[in-house]
Amino acid sequence: MSLKVLILGVNGFIGSNLSTHILAERDWEIYGMDIGRGKIRDLLDNPRFHYVEGDININKEWIEYHIKKCDVVLPLVAIATPATYVTDPLAVFELDFEANLEIVRHCVKYKKRILFPSTSEVYGMSTDSPYDEESSNLVTGPIHKERWIYSCSKQLLDRVIYAYGSRGALPFTLFRPFNWFGPGLDNVWEPKEGSSRVITQFLSAIFHSRDITLVNGGEQKRCFLYIDDAIEALIRIIENKDGLADGRIINIGSPYNESSIKELAETMIEIVEEFSGYENIRNQTKVNVVGGKEFYGAGYQDLVSRVPLIDNAKSLLGWEPSTDLKSGLRQMIDFYVQSKSEADVL
Ligand code: NAD
Ligand code: UDP
Repeated sequence: MSLKVLILGVNGFIGSNLSTHILAERDWEIYGMDIGRGKIRDLLDNPRFHYVEGDININKEWIEYHIKKCDVVLPLVAIATPATYVTDPLAVFELDFEANLEIVRHCVKYKKRILFPSTSEVYGMSTDSPYDEESSNLVTGPIHKERWIYSCSKQLLDRVIYAYGSRGALPFTLFRPFNWFGPGLDNVWEPKEGSSRVITQFLSAIFHSRDITLVNGGEQKRCFLYIDDAIEALIRIIENKDGLADGRIINIGSPYNESSIKELAETMIEIVEEFSGYENIRNQTKVNVVGGKEFYGAGYQDLVSRVPLIDNAKSLLGWEPSTDLKSGLRQMIDFYVQSKSEADVL
C-alpha cells in the first residue's frame, strides 16, 4: 500500500514544492489542506492529490480524521515572515504554537509519525559556527525584542515533541530549514514592503524598480538552500529508511552557499540582468541602507551569521546539497520572469 502523507499548509512554499516532487517521483498519496490553492492548481487533477480548502483553526474534524487515516503528518502551517514576528507577535504564537500543539496532540493520540518544521531561528544569536543540533545553545534576546517569539514558539514545540517522543508516545523527526529559497517562496508581483523573506523582497524591488533595502548595512550573512535540494532531504526523511530519522533533529541547509545580504543583492541584480528585457535593471535599482528599527520596528533584533552543521543530514539521510547559490537564484528568477503574466496565482 502506498504511503499516505498529510500536508497541512500544502499551498505554501514548502508544501507546494514537496507535493510536486512527491507526485512526480513517488507513488504516495497526498492529503492536503490550506486556505489557498494558487501554487498547487497544477496538481489538483492528480488522482493521488486530495486537497481541501480549509483553515486549521476551523476544520478540526477533517484534520483529526486525516491524522488517523494517514501514515505521516507534516504540519507546515505557520507565519514564517520576520516582519510579522514584530508587528503581530500574538498571531505568530497563536498559529505557530497553539494551533500546531493541537496537531501534535492528535498525532500522540493516534501514534502517527510527525515531521515537524522547526527552524534555524531556534539557534537565535548562538555564537557557534556551525550550529550543531546536539550541542549548540539556543540564544534569544530580551522580551521587548519581539522578533524572538517565532523562535521561542518553535523551540517550545520542539521540546514538547521531543518530550512526547522520548517517552515513547510519539514517533517524530524535527527538521530545521536554513533559509530555503526557490520558485513559490513569496509573491513578488504584489509588492508589500517588508512582508516577505529577503530574496523575494529583493526580487520584488528589482522587478518594480523600487529601492533594495539593506537592513543595518547588509554585512549579516545567511546560508541559502535551493528548494529542490531541500525537498530531496525531506523526501528521504518521509521515506525514513531503516528508521534512521526517528527521534532525530536534522539541520537542512547549505554551508556552501553562505552570502552576506549585501553580496546577495549584487548577485541578484547581476542575474536578473541576464534576462531579456531586464538588461538595464541596475540603473533603475538603487541600493539603500536602513536601520533594523526603522525597517521592522523596535522589536527587531538580527543575527550576524547562521551556518548549519549538516553531519546528521549526511549520515542519516545520505544527503548533501548540490545547487550553488547562483544557479539556484537563476532558476528561481527564471520562474518568476516566466510567471509574470500569471501574477495573480502566485
Ligand atoms: P508559507 O508561508 O509559504 O506556507 C504556509 C502555508 O500555510 C500557506 O500556504 C498558508 O496559506 C497556509 N496557512 C496559513 N494559515 C493557515 C490556516 N489557518 N489554515 C490553513 N492553512 C494556513 O511557509 P513555508 O516557507 O512553506 O514554511 C512552512 C513551514 O516551514 C513553517 O512552519 C515555517 O515556519 C517552516 N520554516 C520554513 C523556512 C523556509 O526557509 N521557508 C525556514 C524555517 C522554517
Ligand atoms: N533583510 C534586508 N532587506 C530586506 C529584507 C531582509 O536586508 O528587504 C535582511 C534581514 O534583516 C536579515 C536577512 O536579510 O538580516 C534575512 O532576512 P529574512 O527575512 O529572509 O529571514 P531571516 O534569515 O532573518 O529569518
